[in-house]
Amino acid sequence: MPFKLTIIGSGSAVPIVSRGVTSQYINFNERHMLVDCGEGTQLQLRRFKVKFQRIQMIFISHLHGDHYLGLVGLLSSMSLLGRTKKVNLFCPPELEELLKVQFELAGINLSFDLEFNHLNPNGKMVIFQDNVIQVSSFPVKHRIPTWGFHFQEKRKEKNIDPAKIAEHKLTIEEIQTAKKGEDVVREAEYLRNEDITLPDKPLLSYAYSSDTKYFKEMAKYVKGVDLLYHEATFTEKQKDRAVKTKHSTAKEAAQVAKEAGVGKLLLGHFSARFKSTDEVLNEAKTVFDNCVCVEDGDEFIL
Ligand SMILES: [Zn+2]
Ligand SMILES: [Zn+2]
Repeated sequence: MPFKLTIIGSGSAVPIVSRGVTSQYINFNERHMLVDCGEGTQLQLRRFKVKFQRIQMIFISHLHGDHYLGLVGLLSSMSLLGRTKKVNLFCPPELEELLKVQFELAGINLSFDLEFNHLNPNGKMVIFQDNVIQVSSFPVKHRIPTWGFHFQEKRKEKNIDPAKIAEHKLTIEEIQTAKKGEDVVREAEYLRNEDITLPDKPLLSYAYSSDTKYFKEMAKYVKGVDLLYHEATFTEKQKDRAVKTKHSTAKEAAQVAKEAGVGKLLLGHFSARFKSTDEVLNEAKTVFDNCVCVEDGDEFIL
């Protein structure tokens, strides 16, 4: 299972018993990440049996309380429980000052290193990569500076066709060369890489839109992802509120999914006013069929 997304909280603004505020946990090829950390996130993590000391990276999309007010509590608990492994935090620049003041006034010295990585508003950019995954941030359009995140698998080594190993009696060195995607050159023979390797599997990708109004460039930022999480705080009936608060309707979220050609659309960040999400889902499905309204604790696997 290379990719698993767990919805930790899928509500907006105010936590309620049936729905926590925004947070998600991602295990992507054993990279453990938290996206947003609304109030109550650490309890929700326990509820859904996520071992929070495994989290290596935390991404905070913006400084509205429903996306980060659980962070001080979570970091404090990690420290109280004796964590020594570093946490990499990707966040709006102002959060560094905010957290430092809070820990300083409380006399808290975290037991681990907290590394701050400031998000940049100038377009889509890679903010983390290793040999397994790549993470990019992109600015969205909300009432305050806000970012979405794009998580992508990195190209792995090529798989060699076993039949070709036997047919051409490939040596260990030649196999290593072909795994890197290079051709194998012999004195009297030239083996093209595509003739001795198996076709690449498609790379998995996931995007998180955060809080945003509808805008054209969003579809470019999330083009072709397997899974897109998009907010649907309102429906078209509350369009005036969506415009005023710079949020999206279910129809607009579905419009983005359609324009971007994503595999599947996950809808969340619901207003606590909704008694049921049926209306949200029906509205979205008129534009993009492969979509679901998420609940806390839902898991999505790629
Ligand atoms: Zn929000
Ligand atoms: Zn917001």
